[in-house]
Amino acid sequence: MDINGHAAAPAAAGGATHRSEPNMETPTPRPADFFPLEVVHLLGTARRVIDKHVDDCGCCADCGSSWPCQHAQLAEFTLATL
Ligand SMILES: [Zn+2]
Repeated sequence: MDINGHAAAPAAAGGATHRSEPNMETPTPRPADFFPLEVVHLLGTARRVIDKHVDDCGCCADCGSSWPCQHAQLAEFTLATL
C-alpha cells in the first residue's frame, strides 16, 4: 500500500544457479537479470501505487488527498530514478 512501507527487505543475494563461464546467448531475459531483486520489487510496488493513485478532479481517487498525492509523487520519483 505505502511505497515507504516495509517492502525494502534485504534481498537474499542472488541465490540460484550462477555460472562463472561467459554465456553468449541469454535465454528469456527477465528484469531480475538486469536489476537487483529489491529494485524489481520496488518497480512493481511503484507501478501498483501509480495505478491506484490517479487524478480524480484534483483529488486522489485512492487516498483522497489533493492531487498529486504523496503516494503518486513518491512512486513517480521512484520510477524516474531507475
Ligand atoms: Zn493517493
